[in-house]
Amino acid sequence: MTRCYVCFNKTSWGQVLCSDCIRGFDVIDLNQSCPMCKTSMLSSEMCGACLQKEWHFETLAVPFYYNAMARYLLHDLKFYQNLLLLPIFANLMIESLSDYFKAHQPEVIIPVPMHRWRMLGRGFNQAHELAKRLGRAYHINVNPHVVQKIKHTPAQARLDAQARHANLKASFKVEKHQAFKHVVLLDDIFTTGTTVNALALELIKSGIERVDVIALFRAHSLSFF
Ligand SMILES: [Zn+2]
Ligand SMILES: [Zn+2]
Repeated sequence: MTRCYVCFNKTSWGQVLCSDCIRGFDVIDLNQSCPMCKTSMLSSEMCGACLQKEWHFETLAVPFYYNAMARYLLHDLKFYQNLLLLPIFANLMIESLSDYFKAHQPEVIIPVPMHRWRMLGRGFNQAHELAKRLGRAYHINVNPHVVQKIKHTPAQARLDAQARHANLKASFKVEKHQAFKHVVLLDDIFTTGTTVNALALELIKSGIERVDVIALFRAHSLSFF
């Protein structure tokens, strides 16, 4: 017998989460979110932030808000290295991003890189692990070498927007003269988008024509503007 990782109820054999807990993920409603950044809205109009901001990626596909359950599980994956959770997240991503992969054919999935110091601490980059599984499911190559994190930066979550920007300046290195035309960046969570936007800009500068972004969770923020 196996028990659900979250609620300890019995689950079908081998299942890490029970069906009730799987339903506990907060699905993003495309009729009530910004078409660009997917922040929660009362309609599907572009949010105030996106009207002002220059995004360097074409589209963001993200299925779930980052609710308490998502936070709890992602935290256990990242900080307790609970690798049991990887297939759960990977399957959620594979199933929920099928619309994106039906509509778009990126040549390669690029996981948002992690500096090797952090890699040493954690032992794995969850974005790369998810990318590998997604790539297998959709028959798309995964290339973690296109872009490298060359500067170890403090965790973005603790910084305000300006500090995030400064934090990221010159922290990524993209191999020049890319042969790719259309790539997709993968991250586990989309917060303000500052990181993927900085990365997308570097990729465009290197000669790539189109960058999309996919993520599993979107940090919750409600915007009425
Ligand atoms: Zn459960
Ligand atoms: Zn927006």
